[in-house]
Amino acid sequence: MIPYGKQIIEQDDVNSVIEALRSDFITTGPKVAEFEKAICNFTGAKFAVAVSNGTAALHCAANAAGIGTGDEVIVTPMTFVASANCILYCGGIPLFADVLPETLLLDPAEVEKKITKKTKAIIAVDYAGQPCDYDKLAKIAKKYGIILISDACHSIGGKYKGRRVGTLADMTCFSFHPVKHITTGEGGMIVTDNAKFAEKMRVFRNHGITTDYRQREEKGSWFYEMAELGYNYRITDFQCALGISQLKKLTGWISKRREIAERYDGAFKGNPDIKPLGVSSELTHAYHLYVLRISQNIGRDEMFKKLRNAGIGVNVHYIPVHLHPYYQKNLQTSPGLCPVAEEAFKEILSIPMFPGLTEEQQNLTVKLIEGD
Ligand SMILES: *Cc1c(COP(=O)(O)O)cnc(C)c1O
Repeated sequence: MIPYGKQIIEQDDVNSVIEALRSDFITTGPKVAEFEKAICNFTGAKFAVAVSNGTAALHCAANAAGIGTGDEVIVTPMTFVASANCILYCGGIPLFADVLPETLLLDPAEVEKKITKKTKAIIAVDYAGQPCDYDKLAKIAKKYGIILISDACHSIGGKYKGRRVGTLADMTCFSFHPVKHITTGEGGMIVTDNAKFAEKMRVFRNHGITTDYRQREEKGSWFYEMAELGYNYRITDFQCALGISQLKKLTGWISKRREIAERYDGAFKGNPDIKPLGVSSELTHAYHLYVLRISQNIGRDEMFKKLRNAGIGVNVHYIPVHLHPYYQKNLQTSPGLCPVAEEAFKEILSIPMFPGLTEEQQNLTVKLIEGD
């Protein structure tokens, strides 16, 4: 089976983990800060907070943005459920704004239509690895005094108008799940240039306690206080050691992903029934996913079955969030709310995209899709 995505773990990655396991600290130790610093260097952001997974990263960011009971947050439906669930964790109300038909990225005009006095934040998702139109989104956020959160779980290493993902929004969230660009098994990170947000997130990931164990050790003090309700969203040192090692390879892996995308683009060019998503020329796409739209003439589900039967691990990203039963039941969302996303949902198919994909595997995939 050729999967749609797969991690690469090499001997040096394994060595880093072993070294961390044999050190004095296996959690909340120096590797955490080292990984945070490395992500700051890579993204160009000032502060980074490492957490246990990407969903925790989104929850930390939503909390730092001040989202509370009854606050409205505008989010895209074309994403994994975690992008919207983090709003619910804070007692907020997700409002789904539709996407652009070419890229399936949040449509800034639709965002602006959804803004009310209760709007606290926008959560934009760089779907498939393509950064959203952050100039337009930031302008809207500024105009209404609301916070812009980027769910960049697909787009680490991407760029928008020459600026790196991680510097495009008030807070940017990453995931290090094995299907993402780099992995720590489970893991996540938030980057920001705002010192107050960073501090809030550090406290939130540690039960709402104002000092961590190491800070107390350094001061020679037993004293700690819980100032607000937080969670245990800490990540271990051996996971961060893996992340540090993986991050060194990210640039090369993104080049590989972009080469694979270029070959796919060439192969499907001019086929009206099999269309890659549109890509803006103003950015560097990080290609977490390579998404095709299979016309309703051919049928996405037929194509899915054919490829799965041939051992190609294609997938569908995503069922629009507002169509999930929980959302329909508890937030009274229903079909028709985001027609562009819903129409795209009938046609989208993610095909294999990961740096280890060989040219033969790619040719086989293309051949099967083209049907000859
Ligand atoms: C993977 C992902 C998440 C959640 O990350 P986890 O590390 O699995 O919790 C959130 N948003 C998007 C867009 C994702 O792809």
